[in-house]
Amino acid sequence: MSTAVWWIRRDIRRTDNKALQSAAAVGTVVPLFVWDDVLMNNAGGFRGQFMCRALNALDNSVDRALIYRNGPAADAVVELCRLVGADTVHITEDFAPYGRQRDAEVEKALIADGRRLVRADTPYVIAPGTVRKDDGTPVKVFTPFYKRWLTHQWASAPENEVTFADFRDLCVGSRMEEGWTALSANPSEESAWERFDEWSQRAMGEYKDARNLPGVDGTSMMSPYLKFGIIHPRQLLQRLDGTAGSDVFRSEIAWREFYADVLFHQPETTWKNLQPKMDALPIDSGPVAEERFAQFCAAKTGYPIVDAGVRQLLGSGWMHNRVRMIVASFLVKDLHLPWQWGAKFFMEHLLDGDVASNTHGWQWTAGTGTDASPFFRVFNPMGQSEKFDPTGEYLRRWIPEIAHLDNTSIHAPWTLGLLAPADYPEPMVDHALEREEALARYKAVSGK
Ligand SMILES: Cc1cc2nc3c(=O)[nH]c(=O)nc-3n(C[C@H](O)[C@H](O)[C@H](O)COP(=O)(O)OP(=O)(O)OC[C@H]3O[C@@H](n4cnc5c(N)ncnc54)[C@H](O)[C@@H]3O)c2cc1C
Repeated sequence: MSTAVWWIRRDIRRTDNKALQSAAAVGTVVPLFVWDDVLMNNAGGFRGQFMCRALNALDNSVDRALIYRNGPAADAVVELCRLVGADTVHITEDFAPYGRQRDAEVEKALIADGRRLVRADTPYVIAPGTVRKDDGTPVKVFTPFYKRWLTHQWASAPENEVTFADFRDLCVGSRMEEGWTALSANPSEESAWERFDEWSQRAMGEYKDARNLPGVDGTSMMSPYLKFGIIHPRQLLQRLDGTAGSDVFRSEIAWREFYADVLFHQPETTWKNLQPKMDALPIDSGPVAEERFAQFCAAKTGYPIVDAGVRQLLGSGWMHNRVRMIVASFLVKDLHLPWQWGAKFFMEHLLDGDVASNTHGWQWTAGTGTDASPFFRVFNPMGQSEKFDPTGEYLRRWIPEIAHLDNTSIHAPWTLGLLAPADYPEPMVDHALEREEALARYKAVSGK
């Protein structure tokens, strides 16, 4: 019987997996994961742990047939094919710039060895590059993208039985580490569905409003599972109905697809402004800027909602979406630092760190990206905090130094003067002044 390799990357799951099914249609399947130092070095502690645990759970579900090999990928994949006698390697396509380049190299090496790379699935409902205007050009704004995205057809993978080949001797081993205890999640397909089912039954009805409240368990927390393909977004869409909460959730899934599409068409926007005119915006750099950035990364800005967000990131590898926007706005518009610094910091720590959503989430907030009415929208950290965390629940959870304050002063402890908690810093900048500074800098670029 023939053998085929299922090279796992962002599809760490058994169900609804077209790459796995495509390999199974050839014969017995050899599941492969390649340790890639470039990705592992960028993954940060939380994301690396999360991925290793998800791989471990998958390995359990395939009778320990998962083969780990060391990169570089082109060498590892070709070598394994030779060892197990496989002519084809089946993958879920990667659309991020690094993954595209890596896959092109692997494909070249396979062809040179008389073998084939089969791109059988994507991490998206609709593959990046598919949704286009009538004239074939990319759709650059979310709402028209979403309208067209909704009209595209998609199908689940078949669920045929799979036979896994046993080549355990070829496995170089998992990188699960003894000391990895910081992560409370034990990711697997089962735990992802458990969370989603519990959350959607309890909270989907309130999602439209509750998704903005960081003190409430109001969002699905599916992003790390989606990042590694422990579940596929098609599977989530299948569970949605026509209620208002479901409609908003569907559009959030589409934001993920939109940003992947934007990055697919313009891979250079990983680190460059999507809107080139914004290149002229004066940005601070040098030792003072670096010192301010260090204060921001240490969660010592003196603005509770910003510091709580950074502490949540550093302490759990996750940050609430509303707070991501507030924190990003503060870095760019109150501290006048490059959004790229913030994006890199987020990528180092986020469990769900995804180059497309992260880069374009930052660019959206910084006013350099896909948002049409951008830069003069400067988030007020106190106003946002009062509006979206009115009882200070989120602030109290992450900043115990101010937990005893009342629901008004907790958003701006310095207003208490001498009664302000001594162990929490004063604001590192004056928001009102920095807002004016940001608008003046923007004026110089826009001429308005
Ligand atoms: C500065 C900044 C950086 C971000 N970086 C990332 C990142 O690295 N990885 C990441 O997955 N998301 C990122 N986001 C988007 C968003 O914050 C997270 O997807 C969301 O907080 C995940 O929580 P959830 O799964 O509970 O979301 P839910 O509200 O339950 O949404 C369901 C799913 O929809 C998608 N989604 C929701 N909001 C967005 C959005 N604004 N953009 C893209 N997809 C969205 C996610 O896949 C999410 O899991 C970023 C947003 C900002 C403003």
